[in-house]
Amino acid sequence: MDTRPSVAVVGAGISGLTCALALQQRGLRPKILEQAALLRQLGAGLQLSPNAMAVMAKLGMQQALLDTGSVPEGIRSVNWRSGNDIARVPFAALGFDFPYVHVHRADLQQTLLDAVLANDPDCLLTDQHVEAVVAEQDGVTLLIRHGEPVYANWVVGADGIRSRCRDYVVSDNSAPRFTGNVAWRGLLRTDSLPERLRPPRWANIWMGPGRHVVMYYLRGGELINFVAVREQDDWQEESWNAPASLRDLLHDFADWDPTLFDLLSHTDPKSCFRWALFDRDPISQWHKDRLILIGDAAHPMLPFLAQGAAMGIEDAWVLSQLIASGSGDVGAQFQALREQRCSRVQQLARDNMVLFHHRNTVLRNGRDLVARGLSMVSPALAAKRVKWIYDWRPTAVSAAGQASRS
Ligand SMILES: Cc1cc2nc3c(=O)[nH]c(=O)nc-3n(C[C@H](O)[C@H](O)[C@H](O)COP(=O)(O)OP(=O)(O)OC[C@H]3O[C@@H](n4cnc5c(N)ncnc54)[C@H](O)[C@@H]3O)c2cc1C
Repeated sequence: MDTRPSVAVVGAGISGLTCALALQQRGLRPKILEQAALLRQLGAGLQLSPNAMAVMAKLGMQQALLDTGSVPEGIRSVNWRSGNDIARVPFAALGFDFPYVHVHRADLQQTLLDAVLANDPDCLLTDQHVEAVVAEQDGVTLLIRHGEPVYANWVVGADGIRSRCRDYVVSDNSAPRFTGNVAWRGLLRTDSLPERLRPPRWANIWMGPGRHVVMYYLRGGELINFVAVREQDDWQEESWNAPASLRDLLHDFADWDPTLFDLLSHTDPKSCFRWALFDRDPISQWHKDRLILIGDAAHPMLPFLAQGAAMGIEDAWVLSQLIASGSGDVGAQFQALREQRCSRVQQLARDNMVLFHHRNTVLRNGRDLVARGLSMVSPALAAKRVKWIYDWRPTAVSAAGQASRS
């Protein structure tokens, strides 16, 4: 008889797939319940910093991601109007032991899914919309819309910012709140651009009044991805595939760096989307009975720090080790290990929303002056605000699954 605990993971996003893979690596056979009938290849670029790549390496995914991704030289900030460099912070000077990788979200999701299905072809159950949760003696039953209930000893709630699992854990759950920011996302084919327009192979970031743009390469340089965020409060759709008009995008950035404007005008109209950015307040309880929240379900992150998926990946690793070790109060241990870090990152992302979009010229010039000065003194100093995030390693939970706060 199989004495291993059964685990159901709700949601086949980046957090859920990573968690399932990590559980499989520890000898468990999780089931993933995904509401979609088909896992569609959605989204555009994602930045995976060394803290996330350290988990990917432990899961044997590093080479596959390097093969499909692109490795930037560092972070380059650019004057929003002139296009001149403000500062460059090269990653080589920061001494990372894992790469910083830019990947297409669809490639990351597919790479994880392939690995999960190679371990267990029956792991993913699609068309399984979890509607409600019922606590049992040694587990939890998930009620599925138009489907059979599913019982598991442990449930991982990885069902994103509008999580049903979160509704079960938190009784006074407030709804996601629109931040007043909308993100344009788009892809350009590098070979469609004249040489003079091609941006340097860095994570390029323009920060101007009420707006910013991040641009980097994907798929070994074949594609260029951008996220262009604009403060706007009259459009609130959240979807990886809500089509958007390229003309509106260009209108929004008409008075910006002419090279950037030229670049944006080369966007493939079929790959230009808009995404309204929502946020939720931190919650004080991440688990109830034997259901534990991870990723955006526990702590949605604004994309101003490029850490939402990374935090979900870290969570997935930590929780899988704790479930596999099976000792103590898994939910409480998990929250104790993760809450402080995730809350800090969440707050820093919110702070960046203000910092990136200063409308006051004095504040904006001051910000850029500090960035330039620090990068000239030392790249480590310039990166100090975020380096502590990138320095996290999966060894924060030992191989035996025991919690330690390294
Ligand atoms: C514009 C933008 C840029 C970003 N850039 C970065 C970046 O560079 N780096 C980074 O680390 N992060 C980035 N992020 C954040 C990152 O995309 C998210 O934090 C991450 O995708 C969250 O993953 P998740 O698996 O927790 O949730 P999701 O991706 O939302 O996945 C949840 C899954 O659960 C399923 N589901 C939902 N409800 C149910 C239900 N009731 N029953 C069954 N299944 C259900 C959904 O269908 C979905 O498949 C960015 C986000 C945005 C919007």
